[in-house]
Amino acid sequence: MSRSVLVTGGNRGIGLAIARAFADAGDKVAITYRSGEPPKDLTAAGVLAVKCDITDAEMVEQAYKEIEEKHGAVEVLVANAGITKDQLLMRMSEEDFTSVLDTNLTGTFRVVKRANRGMLRAKKGRVVLISSVVGLYGSPGQANYAASKAGLVGFARSLARELGSRNLTFNVVAPGFVDTDMTQVLTDEQRANIVSQVPLGRYAKPEEIAATVRFLASDDASYITGAVIPVDGGLGM
Ligand code: NAD
Repeated sequence: MSRSVLVTGGNRGIGLAIARAFADAGDKVAITYRSGEPPKDLTAAGVLAVKCDITDAEMVEQAYKEIEEKHGAVEVLVANAGITKDQLLMRMSEEDFTSVLDTNLTGTFRVVKRANRGMLRAKKGRVVLISSVVGLYGSPGQANYAASKAGLVGFARSLARELGSRNLTFNVVAPGFVDTDMTQVLTDEQRANIVSQVPLGRYAKPEEIAATVRFLASDDASYITGAVIPVDGGLGM
């Protein structure tokens, strides 16, 4: 059965792998992205790419209107878009803090709230939020990012309780370190240090995060809600 799936931040990295996984399974996939261009093969394969900054409520509304027109109401939402602005606390400006919260947490609130309109009408829906192990355990220099990603856990669990009776599920995937542009900024030494702490001894591939997201959106996960699933190679255990 082909579903209307939306992946935010789906033009690269983890979001791109998630979009490809749903598209390969025959779903009607839309992605939103803030900058750059989506890969040509993705749009050629029928994935709808909509430019949308999730910090802008009006752009979010316009994006949903376009998706609903072309694919119907969103049935599976993967809120993946996110940013980092790493800084030690005493050097962290208020803007460094609020901009990360506005994208990762409030931006997710915007897209989830809008998706829920259609999901409530349909009396079913699947929402998967991409958090991070950093949101569960913290990380020096990432207090803003950790706060935003921890916030997603409380957000999802509250909605799981609030809307479970309406047949909507809300789950969180917490990746460890994944090979994407976001982690390219780390030095070789930092990467080696991270890998030495991961029981599986390597970074995750974006496809390994996508597989868990697909599971949570599938019928096999029909009785799972409010869960936080680490996909971290054992890093956080
Ligand atoms: P990435 O930087 O490669 O991609 C981020 C995506 O988010 C891009 O598509 C970008 O366009 C989009 N985005 C950012 N700000 C946006 C905004 N204001 N509006 C709309 N879209 C916006 O990063 P990634 O590594 O693929 O990360 C994807 C998600 O996974 C993020 O939420 C990130 O925090 C999380 N994550 C990543 C890792 C990792 O190691 N890479 C680990 C844990 C969690």
